[in-house]
Amino acid sequence: MNITRPAWLEINLDQLEENIKIIQKNISSQSKILSIVKSDGYCLGAAKIVESLIDLGVDYFGLATTSEAIQLRKKYPKVGLLVLGFTPNFLLKESIDQGITLSVYTLDMAKEINNHAGEVGKKAKIHIALDTGMNRIGFSTNQEKIQETYQKIEEINGLENIEIEGLFTHFAVADTDDAFTQHQFDQYQMVYRELGKRGISIPMRHVSNSHAILRHRAYDLDYVRPGILQYGSREEDPYGENFSVKLIANLKALVAYVKEVPANEGVSYGLTYKTKTRTKIATIPIGYADGLPRNLSNQLEVLIQGKRCKQIGRICMDQCMVDVTGLDVKVNDEVVLLGRQGTEEISIEELAKKAGEIPTSFLTHFGKRLPRVYLKNQKVEEIEDIILKC
Ligand SMILES: *Cc1c(COP(=O)(O)O)cnc(C)c1O
Repeated sequence: MNITRPAWLEINLDQLEENIKIIQKNISSQSKILSIVKSDGYCLGAAKIVESLIDLGVDYFGLATTSEAIQLRKKYPKVGLLVLGFTPNFLLKESIDQGITLSVYTLDMAKEINNHAGEVGKKAKIHIALDTGMNRIGFSTNQEKIQETYQKIEEINGLENIEIEGLFTHFAVADTDDAFTQHQFDQYQMVYRELGKRGISIPMRHVSNSHAILRHRAYDLDYVRPGILQYGSREEDPYGENFSVKLIANLKALVAYVKEVPANEGVSYGLTYKTKTRTKIATIPIGYADGLPRNLSNQLEVLIQGKRCKQIGRICMDQCMVDVTGLDVKVNDEVVLLGRQGTEEISIEELAKKAGEIPTSFLTHFGKRLPRVYLKNQKVEEIEDIILKC
């Protein structure tokens, strides 16, 4: 394999397709997937993920920032690209020109978009963001603000260079509080209906993130917005067992060094770990700069020869040590830090729990220095390696 490091992230596009098919099969038949590929596809590589999903009929993708959308547009001139967050004025002209769909949650923003669209000579497609209770972004559906919200959306609808294509909201507690989620959904539906009465019909309604997709068929509407679910984690949601997705990422490395040390030796910075008996230690060339949280020192386990081995001593920036006593381990043996080896598995849920995080946030630690190896039809299809680009 042509990678520049003996440590890499393997991304299984066959499993990604499997996950998408599972979601497609389980959601309502009239609903489609708006695939969330923000933050470079949860750090797994948005460009490759989009390529795979287009083949499965996915036609709309969600990004967090306008820069991500502009980047993806270079490779995919036709698909729908929706920026879910804020677009600063200095990016409006380019994004309208590139046919990028923008989220709008203030009247000022809509007017700016309208002006820039006029200059570019194109109609700008927008989705209205509604804040139904998360208090992040969106026109408020609070009792005291709702009339103002209707008026502003009506005014936006009257702007000549703008087309309101979508209306969306985001759930704050889809994984823990079904009653509040239902309240958010009701607020959303109330606005949708009122806008309809005022002659504003919006073709693209979407509200559900992964946990809502696992729990609520009534919220599927026109599109659903899976993020972590398509990458293969249900984040231990007890609902939605029929969504049998699996993680598409495996973190692997090769053993860099093996040695035996006597009892009472300290290991790594601070010498915080002391060997109790004679210990065989393998050094692994991967560290916190690659996404292994330093505060998980002495808590991680890795798989070598299908066995769980304890990581010992502080995790360094680029290396860490593992106790392999009793195993016949050699330099260049494969180490699995996330994923399966033989019958054992280190899951993203296990890692996230140890770190006090969620699977989504844990994935976003995996640094760009780790080459991404993409597997398709069980073969290496492509390698993304930033060192090769330098
Ligand atoms: C991130 C995000 C999603 C996807 O969230 P998951 O929990 O990963 O499914 C959907 N919608 C919006 C607006 C988001 O910001």
